Amino acid sequence: MTLITVEPVAAPTVEVPVETLSIETPTYTAFAAGPGGQSFVQKQLELPKLGQFDVAVAIVCCGVCYTDTMYAAMAEGMVVGHEIIGRVEFKGEAVTNVDIGDTIGFGYIRSTCLACQFCLSGQENMCPKRTTFTDGIGGLANASVWDSRFVYKIPSSIEPRHAGPLTCAGASVFGALYGYNVSPTATVGVVGMGGLGHLAIKFAKAWGCKATRVANKRAIEGWNGVTGLV
Ligand SMILES: [Zn+2]
Ligand SMILES: [Zn+2]
Repeated sequence: MTLITVEPVAAPTVEVPVETLSIETPTYTAFAAGPGGQSFVQKQLELPKLGQFDVAVAIVCCGVCYTDTMYAAMAEGMVVGHEIIGRVEFKGEAVTNVDIGDTIGFGYIRSTCLACQFCLSGQENMCPKRTTFTDGIGGLANASVWDSRFVYKIPSSIEPRHAGPLTCAGASVFGALYGYNVSPTATVGVVGMGGLGHLAIKFAKAWGCKATRVANKRAIEGWNGVTGLV
């Protein structure tokens, strides 16, 4: 085992021009996947109608997740992006958790039934009626419409470009630490250190754990940050 000290690197983000949305002319600019996911095509599209639980959001920035590259390669025309930070511009009459002007984050899940066994046990991602960013407008756009019950307020102390990756990469690894009741005295092994792995190490260290990265020695080059390497 080699011990090294590492500062995690920030995940990449895409920043888009923020525009004020208009309910009268609800169009927005999106970047849809081109052939084979090798390019993006700028499009002018129409926002979906605002449902009672929906918010219309002016997108500030969006992280890039490896899942995006997979979908972009498979589905020409899809607007990918699911590490989204934006500002609430309009909201449906039943929305109570966020207000106009709030900065919010949202990610993979767009909506679920909120009534099945999975939804009622904190496993909404397994809901058979779930919709995701692939069913609507992804984050590589300057606006989107999302179910408010799947958006989260972002404190002003976190820069939007840093908050974006928390909504997918961060949520994924936090879910593992939380779901398995990892204690602050545990030693946590993280296999690989890309977009998810470096956040797993940050969470584990913040929780008090000893974090150990599991990787081959060749993979250490170019990185500078964990308490242990196996
Ligand atoms: Zn993702
Ligand atoms: Zn459900």
